Amino acid sequence: MAKYAELIPNFLTFVKINTRSDPQSTSIPSSDRETEFLNQLKDRLTKMGLKDVHTNEQSAYVFATLPGNVDKSVPTVGFISHIDTADFNAENIQPQIVENYDGHSVIKLDEKGEYTLDPKVFPSLKKYAGQTLITTDGSTLLGADDKAGVAEIIAAITYLQAHPEVKHGDIKIAFGPDEEIGTGADHFDVKDFGADVAYTVDGGPLGDLNYETFNAADAKVVIKGTDVHPAEAKGIMVNAIQVGMDFHAALPDFDRPEKTQDREGFFHLYDFQGTVDHTEMGYIIRDHDRDRFEARKRLFKGIANQMNSDFGEDRVKVTIKDQYYNMGEIIKKDPTPVKIAEQAMKNVDVTPHVFPVRGGTDGSKISYMGLPTPNIFAGGENMHGRFEYVSEQTMEKAVDVVLEIAKLYAEKQ
Ligand SMILES: [Zn+2]
Repeated sequence: MAKYAELIPNFLTFVKINTRSDPQSTSIPSSDRETEFLNQLKDRLTKMGLKDVHTNEQSAYVFATLPGNVDKSVPTVGFISHIDTADFNAENIQPQIVENYDGHSVIKLDEKGEYTLDPKVFPSLKKYAGQTLITTDGSTLLGADDKAGVAEIIAAITYLQAHPEVKHGDIKIAFGPDEEIGTGADHFDVKDFGADVAYTVDGGPLGDLNYETFNAADAKVVIKGTDVHPAEAKGIMVNAIQVGMDFHAALPDFDRPEKTQDREGFFHLYDFQGTVDHTEMGYIIRDHDRDRFEARKRLFKGIANQMNSDFGEDRVKVTIKDQYYNMGEIIKKDPTPVKIAEQAMKNVDVTPHVFPVRGGTDGSKISYMGLPTPNIFAGGENMHGRFEYVSEQTMEKAVDVVLEIAKLYAEKQ
C-alpha cells in the first residue's frame, strides 16, 4: 500500500490532460486548455473541503486554504505549482511505468525503440535502481514539470486532512498557469494568497533546493541599413546584416550559454533575422550577480552607442527589458525559509542539494513582490522533452518534505 494512495493515480490523470501554454498568446492563461484544467483543480479542491477556494481574477491562479489546527499563532505557509507544460508536444500523453528499474538497462520509450532512455546518455538513471519510473512513450513530454508538484501538494493536503494529529498552521496552496512562457507569476496576487512564506514545488531531482536565480533581461537590437545596388555600393551601402554580425562580435567571446556554467553569466543570441536594409536580433542577458548584470546591460548599450557614433547617425537601436531578478537578494535578508526547507529534507533522509538556478522560477518574481518563495524539488528529470521521467519514490519524498515544512513552521512561535 503506497504511503500516499492518490499520489500516483492523480499524477497519471493530470499528465494526460494537455495544458501546454502558448508563447504567442497574450491572454491569461495563455491557452484555454489551462483554464479548463485549473477549473478541474478548483472543483477538486472544493470537494476536498478546503476553504476559500477561488480563482484569483488578475492572475488566473487557483487559491485554497487548509485551516490550521494549532491554537498559537504560527506562520502561514504556501505551496505553489504551475499547471502548464513546456513548449513541446503534449497531445495524447501516454505515461509508461517501469517497475523496479535495475539502474542499468536501456528503457525503450516508443514501440520501435527509436527513442530510448539509455544510462550512457542519461547517467542520472543509475540513481534509480530499485525504483519505479514513469516515462513518456517517446512522442510527447511527460509534464512531471510541474504536474508532479500539483499531485504532491494535493497528496500532502489529503494526508493532513486524514491525520489531524499532525499539527500545522494555515496552509495556502496555489496552482497557476504559464510558468513555462515566463509570464504566469507576473500577476501573482500576494495579498489575496495570504501566506507569510511560500515554496514553489517545481524543482528537479531529489533534494533540489533553490533560492538563487539569474537576474534576467531580454534585449532587442534593431539595425537600419542602406541598401543600394552592390555594383555601386562603395562608400554608400550599409549592410544591416554585417552590422549585426559586428555587434555580436563585439560581445565577449566566451560569455555564451554553451561556454558558461555555475555562476557565469552570458549574452545569448536566440534570434537573428536580417536583410541588407533591416536586421533584428534577439538576446537574453543573464547573471546571478546584480552588479555584473547591470554591467552587462551597460556594455550592450555601449556597443550600440559606439557603433552609432562611428556611423555618425543612429543605426543601431537597443531596447532592454528586465524580466526578473535573483531572489537570493531577498532571501539573504532572512534565510529562514531555506533553513526550514533544509531541515525538512534532512528530517526525511533527503540530502539537500542547494545550487543557483541558471534560470528563473516563479519565486524569482513572487519573492520581489514581498513573499519569500524558494523552490523545492518535485522530482522530474530531463524536463521539457520526450526524455522526461520521474520516480515514484522521489515524488513520495517530495510529499514528505512538504509535510515536514508545514510541521516545522507549526513549531515556530
Ligand atoms: Zn516547472
